[in-house]
Amino acid sequence: MSLSDFSSIRARLEGANPVPLAMSLIHMTGDLSLLEHITPHIRGAWEHLESIPPELTGDIRDRMAACMVEMSKGGSPSMAQPSSSVIQKMMSAAVGEQVSEAYVPMLLEQVGLQVSDQHMLNLAQSATHDEVQSGAQTNDIHIAIIGAGASGLCAAIQLGKLGIPYTIFEKNAEVGGTWYENRYPGCAVDTPNHFYQFSFEPNNNWPNYFSQRDAIQAYLEHCADKYEVRQHIRFNTEVSSVVFDEATQTWLIQAIEKASQLSFNQATIETTAQYSDHITIQTTNATDRVEHLHANAVICAVGQLNRPAIPKLPGLEQYQGRVIHTAQWPDQIDLKGKKVALIGTGASAVQVGPAIAAQVESLAVLQRSGSWVVRRPNIDGVVSEDTKWVLNNVPFYAPWYRFQLFWAFGDGLFEALKIDPTWQGGSESISAFNARLRESMMKHIRRELVGRDDLLKKVVPDFPPFGKRVLGDAGWYSMLKRDNVRLETGEIKQVHAKAVELEDGTLLEADILVMATGFQAGRMLWPMDIQGRGGVTIRQKWSDDDPRAFLGITAPEFPNFFMMYGPNTNIGHGGSALFLAECQTRYFMGLIQALRTQPIRSVECRQDVHDRYNQEIDRLLGQLSWSHPSVSTWYKNAKGRIVTNQPWSLLDYWRLTYEAKLSDYHLVG
Ligand SMILES: Cc1cc2nc3c(=O)[nH]c(=O)nc-3n(C[C@H](O)[C@H](O)[C@H](O)COP(=O)(O)OP(=O)(O)OC[C@H]3O[C@@H](n4cnc5c(N)ncnc54)[C@H](O)[C@@H]3O)c2cc1C
Repeated sequence: MSLSDFSSIRARLEGANPVPLAMSLIHMTGDLSLLEHITPHIRGAWEHLESIPPELTGDIRDRMAACMVEMSKGGSPSMAQPSSSVIQKMMSAAVGEQVSEAYVPMLLEQVGLQVSDQHMLNLAQSATHDEVQSGAQTNDIHIAIIGAGASGLCAAIQLGKLGIPYTIFEKNAEVGGTWYENRYPGCAVDTPNHFYQFSFEPNNNWPNYFSQRDAIQAYLEHCADKYEVRQHIRFNTEVSSVVFDEATQTWLIQAIEKASQLSFNQATIETTAQYSDHITIQTTNATDRVEHLHANAVICAVGQLNRPAIPKLPGLEQYQGRVIHTAQWPDQIDLKGKKVALIGTGASAVQVGPAIAAQVESLAVLQRSGSWVVRRPNIDGVVSEDTKWVLNNVPFYAPWYRFQLFWAFGDGLFEALKIDPTWQGGSESISAFNARLRESMMKHIRRELVGRDDLLKKVVPDFPPFGKRVLGDAGWYSMLKRDNVRLETGEIKQVHAKAVELEDGTLLEADILVMATGFQAGRMLWPMDIQGRGGVTIRQKWSDDDPRAFLGITAPEFPNFFMMYGPNTNIGHGGSALFLAECQTRYFMGLIQALRTQPIRSVECRQDVHDRYNQEIDRLLGQLSWSHPSVSTWYKNAKGRIVTNQPWSLLDYWRLTYEAKLSDYHLVG
C-alpha cells in the first residue's frame, strides 16, 4: 500500500486505538492542545475506559492520515523528542491519571520512544564507569548460561552484542523454556503480548492480544536465530553440578547429555570444537556423555516455573488412568469421550479447562481455593490486519500502545497490593483501591454467573484481590456452567483405580487426571548441586525452600554467580517476566564488564549488603496482599515466608538494577 495515498491510510487508521493515535499525532504536529481535548474522556489505561467522542476520533484519524502523506513527501515530525515534562503530561493523559515524572526515563527506554538498539549495553558499560578504566584491558573470559528460556536468551543476546564468548546448557531440545514445555490446550500468555516481548525486539505482528503458546515459542525461536544464539547452545544437556574453584576463581560446570537425545550430536560436536579451550567432553559409558566447562561466571537462568509439582494425593500410586501435568502435555492425546478430573484452579487450570470442556465426556474441576478470574479486554481478540498495519507504520504508535499496556497491566495496579493498616472495609479487601477493584471483579463474576448462585458461592475467593495472581477469564465461567462440568470444592480423600473420592464421600470417575498443580517454585535451582566458595552448597544456605539473594541476582559465598528470575523477583501485580529479564541482564552485565576490563577475577556480594536488602524486602512484603492472613499461595515457603515475589513496583526494580555498584561486592584480583 502506498504511504502517500490519503484514503488508503485513512481506512487503515480505523484499526488504531484513539489514545495512542492521539499521542502519535502530538509528536507529529506538536499540537499539545489536543491533550486538553482528549483528557476528560480518558478514565484509565484500558481501551474500554476511553470515551473520546466519535467526531474527535475521526478528526484525529484524518489529521494523522494527512501527516503521514506529508511525511511520505519528506516531512518530519514536529516533536520527535519531547521534553521530560511534556512526556510526563502525555503519559498522564494517556492513562487517565497522574504518572510521576520518575517514570519518564524508564518508560522512554522500555516502550522504545528513545530509539536506541544499544540501550541495554550502553547502560551496562556506564554501570561501572567510575571504576572501569574503559579500554584499559580486555580479559579473556567465558560465561556459562544455564537455561535457554526467555531469561537465558536475553542474557545471551546482550553477551553476543558485546562479543563476550558464552556457552548455554539447555536440558530441552529447543529454546523457549516455559513456552517450549507448556503445550496444554489453551496455553497462552496472560500478560498482553505487546508488553510480553523484549523492548529491544518489538513484534508488531502478534496474531492475538494474548497469543497462544505457539506464537510465543516462535517469537523466542526468532530471537535465538536473529541474534545467532543457537550455535552457542548445548541442547539436551542438563547441568548437574556447578562448583567454584577458589584457586582459579572460576566455576566448573558439569552437564550430562542423555544418550536418547544424541541425534543432536553433530551440531553439538561442532560447537564443542569451537570452544575446545573451555569444554571437555567425556564419554563415561555407552549411554550418557558428561561435559565439563570452566567458566569465569555463571548466569543461572533456570526459571521459577520449570519443575512441575505433583501433589502427594493418598492412593495416587494405585490410580490406573493417565496422570498428566499441564507442563508435560502429551502431543497425541484424544480426550473425546473421556472422563477428566482437573485438579487445581490456578493459572494453567483456567486456560486448559475451557479449552477441553467441549471435547470431554465429563469434567470435574477440583478446587482447593478459588482464584480471582476477571474480565480482561481482548483476551480472545485477534489483532486485525489494520491494527498490525498501524503498529508497523504509524510513527510513535507502537511505543504509546505499549505504554498503555505497561500501565494497565503493570504499575497502574501496584497500589492494589498495599495493605492499608487503617482500612475499615473488612477482610475481603485491603484498601479502598483494592476494594474498588474487587467490586469491578465481582460485577464481572455476577454477570457471568447470573442465575447460578450455587456456582457464585463456590467461585468467589475468600481472600482479597491480588492475594494470588489475578487471572484473565478466557471462558472459565462459561465452562463452569456447562452441563458436563461440575465444580467440586471438597478435599480429596483418596484416589482409587478409576476415580477420585472426596472427603464427603463423593466419587468422581476419571479416566484422566489433569494436574494443574503448578511448580516447585520455592525450591529454586533444584536439583543442581551448586557449591560456592569453601564448598558451601546452595541448599545449605537456602535449605529446601528458603532462597534469598541480593536483588534476586547475587548471593554471598557464590562469586560470579548471577541468577535470573531468582529469589523474590516474581512480579505479583502484573508486568512481564521479559521486563524482569532485561533489568537483571543489564545489572550483571555491569559486573561482567568489570571482570572483563578490570584486574578483577571475581565479584562476591557482601553479606551485610545482602542481609540489609533481605530485611528490607521482608519488611515491605509484610505490608502487601500476600501477607494477608487469609492468603495461602505458592509465593510462600513452608514457614510462610514469601520467597518468590518481589515487593517492588516495576519502576523500583528497574531503578534498583540500573547500576551495579562494585562497592556492594568483595573483589578478588
Ligand atoms: C503456563 C505459563 C504461563 C505463563 N504466562 C506468563 C505471562 O503471561 N506473563 C509473564 O510475565 N510470565 C508468565 N509465565 C512465567 C514464565 O515462566 C516467564 O514468563 C518466563 O517464560 C520465564 O523465563 P525463564 O527463562 O526465566 O524460565 P523458563 O522459561 O522456565 O526457562 C528455564 C530454562 O532452563 C532450563 N533448565 C532448567 N534447569 C536446567 C539444568 N539443570 N540444566 C540445563 N537447563 C536447565 C529449562 O529447560 C528451561 O528451558 C508463565 C508461566 C507458565 C508456566
